[in-house]
Amino acid sequence: MLYPFAYSSNASLSRLCKIIHDRPGVCLFLRAPSFFAFASTDSPVAFLPHFRAHFNDAMLAFFVNCLRNCSLPIALVYTDLIFRSIFLALNIAMPSEKGKKIFPIQTKTGCLLKWNWSTIYLQSGTSASCHRTTKLKIPEDNFDSFHNLPKKIEDRERMLQGEWPIDTCGYCRKMEEAGGFSDRMNQLAQQTDPDHNPPELKANPTAVEVTPTILQVFFKNTCNMSCVYCGPHLSSKWETEIEKHGQLKSINVSKYSTMAVQNNPNYDRQKKDLWKYLKEKDRYKNIRIYSVLGGEPLVIPELYESLDFWEKHPNDKLVFEFTTNLKATDKRIEALLSRMQKMIDTGAVLRFKIVASIDALGPEQEYARYGMDLEQFIMNFEKLSRTKGIELAINSTLSALTIKKLPDLIKKIEQWNAARSGDRIVFSFNTDEDATNPKIFGPGVFDQELEETMRLLPEKNVREIIVKRHFQTVAHSIMSAKRQPEKINTMKRYLTELDARRNTDWRKVYPWLQDV
Ligand code: SF4
Repeated sequence: MLYPFAYSSNASLSRLCKIIHDRPGVCLFLRAPSFFAFASTDSPVAFLPHFRAHFNDAMLAFFVNCLRNCSLPIALVYTDLIFRSIFLALNIAMPSEKGKKIFPIQTKTGCLLKWNWSTIYLQSGTSASCHRTTKLKIPEDNFDSFHNLPKKIEDRERMLQGEWPIDTCGYCRKMEEAGGFSDRMNQLAQQTDPDHNPPELKANPTAVEVTPTILQVFFKNTCNMSCVYCGPHLSSKWETEIEKHGQLKSINVSKYSTMAVQNNPNYDRQKKDLWKYLKEKDRYKNIRIYSVLGGEPLVIPELYESLDFWEKHPNDKLVFEFTTNLKATDKRIEALLSRMQKMIDTGAVLRFKIVASIDALGPEQEYARYGMDLEQFIMNFEKLSRTKGIELAINSTLSALTIKKLPDLIKKIEQWNAARSGDRIVFSFNTDEDATNPKIFGPGVFDQELEETMRLLPEKNVREIIVKRHFQTVAHSIMSAKRQPEKINTMKRYLTELDARRNTDWRKVYPWLQDV
């Protein structure tokens, strides 16, 4: 066996083949590597399975590059801590360059999502290029224009010139200006499939009127939970609570008003328009990711209507995705899994991806995600984990209420990964920017847990390395933020007000918060 391999270490060469594959082989070794298409780092002696995973990544990258006639060699490097940091940086840079090559718009601000992604909020009749950016009204008489609204076209034109759009995309702009790793960069870094580009870019690489390949649809707000950092716009439980007790007095955020629900009088018609849009011109064949959000997908009829649609309009390149709190009976999960399995077997979809929402373990989690039964979540998640053909992900909200127990969750995910035979569970996160925003606490309060999470986050594939890099950016911004005592007091008043409505007690669940 011949392994293209590079190393920088004092470890004995003769041990390496044995370490990697438990059998002897012949290795082609290159000393002191510097210019490689793929670099992976770790100490095989310290952490054998981790090192093997890196090796397999390197091999995969090598073969993919061979297929693409790429002449650069692949390097798998294990080394000491100083070199490790350098090569980790390379690991991020390399896929970014690769992604940029796949997406033809290579300007300083060019964003893949601006071209290929539409999030549709049917409840408010609006659409956006991602969930970080401004929602734009979809014209009542022209639903089909949702992906090419005048503002979206203007944004694409500015990006073609290397400029940031006006009044939108502020999140990515600020993140990049501060030297961080934005969603825009994250998406470019992760793109491996040219099929995710809008089809129009093949003939015209600077086309600005295009067809989406990724559709994310927020349907009704019907939900069986009312997370502390959510609101009536996404949860009917929240809506009912506000109708019963009145507006919250402690907090003045528009999303907490029932007005934020924005009941769209054209909801049913626009839902029909969506199916029609996908059917016409066979657009459904261009879709690579279709994602259902609510409310809670498991309790809205639209999840099942979506399954009906794709059963009738098969697309064997489609990843059907939904984000769920997994608050469902065994019977419901079983029935859904058997339907999904049938759709995979018949080629109606390529595969399913289920994104489960959880931020931490322990009573802190059940307080923050009010209505959650952690035991039921774990049981359902483990059932999904045992089912073949399902890609599993976990999405966490970084909130002041849960960060302290985030390391426990990361450890649990690693346990689940160890017991799973399929792909690794993908971890991703977003940050609450409102009432429970961890940044308002400033340095010192979450440092220990954030440092521990950074240490625990795995780096067994390129995606995990990118998530870890993103987490490091966010963690450092939390640890270096300016403390805002007034906002901390507002948060405490907010929790006290919620406690009175929910018969809960934040002081018991978060004793540390009393003294902050
Ligand atoms: S906010 Fe960022 S990721 Fe979203 S469309 Fe704008 S640049 Fe792209």
